[in-house]
Amino acid sequence: MTIPTTPVDIPAVADAEELTCDVLVIGGGTAGTMAALTAAERGASVLLLEKAHVRHSGALAMGMDGVNNAVVPGRAEPDDYVAEITRANDGIVDQSTVRQTATRGFAMVQRLESYGVKFENDEHGEYAVRQVHRSGSYVLPMPEGKDVKKVLYRQLRRREMRERIRIENRVMPVRVLTAGGRAVGAAGFHTRTGAFVTVRAGAVILATGACGRLGLPASGYLYGTYENPTNAGDGYAMAYHAGAELTGIECFQINPLIKDYNGPACAYVANPFGGYQVNRHGERFVDSDYWSGQMMAEVAGDRGPVYLKLSHLPEESVSALESILHSTERPTRGTFHAGRGRRPVHGLRGRTSRGPGPRGA
Ligand SMILES: Cc1cc2nc3c(=O)[nH]c(=O)nc-3n(C[C@H](O)[C@H](O)[C@H](O)COP(=O)(O)OP(=O)(O)OC[C@H]3O[C@@H](n4cnc5c(N)ncnc54)[C@H](O)[C@@H]3O)c2cc1C
Repeated sequence: MTIPTTPVDIPAVADAEELTCDVLVIGGGTAGTMAALTAAERGASVLLLEKAHVRHSGALAMGMDGVNNAVVPGRAEPDDYVAEITRANDGIVDQSTVRQTATRGFAMVQRLESYGVKFENDEHGEYAVRQVHRSGSYVLPMPEGKDVKKVLYRQLRRREMRERIRIENRVMPVRVLTAGGRAVGAAGFHTRTGAFVTVRAGAVILATGACGRLGLPASGYLYGTYENPTNAGDGYAMAYHAGAELTGIECFQINPLIKDYNGPACAYVANPFGGYQVNRHGERFVDSDYWSGQMMAEVAGDRGPVYLKLSHLPEESVSALESILHSTERPTRGTFHAGRGRRPVHGLRGRTSRGPGPRGA
C-alpha cells in the first residue's frame, strides 16, 4: 500500500450533502433490505445507506444454504427453540430477542417464498426441517439459496419500491444523530470520495450486521473471518454512542477455519448429512456442531487440531455437501481443494475464527 506523503483534498464539512427521509436504514444486507421494504410498503419514504453495494453486500452476498432458525408450526415450539439457543450459548442470550425469531421467523419464511425463494419440501410436501442443534429441528434447507440476495435486491428495485426507497451505495454513516433522546438522523461520508453526508430522518434503523472483526484468526489475515469482513463493528459503535441498549456482544461464535484456507469448515452444514468434527485422536467430541465452547476446549487442550470427518459418508452425500460448500458457503473453496488435488472427504483440519453473536441462532 502507498501512503500519501502530500496532503490530500479532504472535502469540507460545510459542503456536506444533506438528505431527508421518513425512515433511514443503515446497512443494506438481509435485515436492512427487509426493513426498507417493510417501511416502504407502509408508506414511508426510505433512505437506505450501504457502505458497500446493496446488490452484493452483507453476510449473504454469496447466498445461504438454509434458514437456520425456522420454527415451523406443528414441527417445533417457540419455547423449545428459546431453551435450545439459551443452552447452546451457555445462557448468554437476550431471550426476548430469540423469542421474536422463534415466533416471527416462520412468517418471514412465507414472505421469502412469496418473493420466489425456494425451501426444501419432503415427500409429503411439508417443510423438510433438519436437526443440527442438540434438540429440535430448526434448519430449513434452501436448494437455490445462493441467489437469495439477488432475489431481495430485485424486490428493492421493483417500480413501486423504487419510488419510495432511495439507495445510496458507498455511503457509510459513522454516527447516529440524536435530539431529545431520539434518533433523528445520521452523519457519514462517501467511502470513495470522502464527501460528508448528513441525514435528517423521522426514524433510524441500524442494520449493520454482526461484528466479525473483533476476533481474527491466528494468521492475522484481515479478511480471514468467517463473518462478512465489512461488518467491522461500526454499527455497534454507532448504537453505543446513540445510547442504545447493546446485548449479546459478550457471546462469541467460533468457527473452525480450514488449514491454509481462509474459509470455515462448516461442520454444521455437514452435520445433517452425517459429517461431524473429531479431535486429533479421531474421537467425536461435540454434542452439537453449533456449540463453540467444547470446540475451544478441545483446541486449547492437547487434542487439537480438529477435523471434519466425512470419509464414512456415501459419495452422494459428499457430492451434495460439496455443491453447498463450494458454491453457496465459500465459492473459492472448490478451487482450493482442486489445487490440493484432494476432496474434503479426505478430512479437513481446522483452526478457529471468532466473531460475536448468538451461536446456532
Ligand atoms: C459465510 C456465512 C454463511 C451463512 N450462512 C447462513 C445460512 O445458511 N443460514 C442462515 O440462517 N444464516 C446464515 N448466515 C448468517 C446470516 O447470513 C446472517 O445472520 C444475516 O445475513 C445477517 O443479516 P444482517 O442484515 O444483520 O447483516 P448483513 O447481511 O451482513 O448486512 C450488514 C450490512 O451492513 C453494511 N454496513 C456495516 N456497517 C455499515 C455502516 N457503518 N454504514 C453502512 N453500511 C454498513 C455491511 O456492508 C452489510 O452490507 C451465514 C453467515 C455467514 C457469514
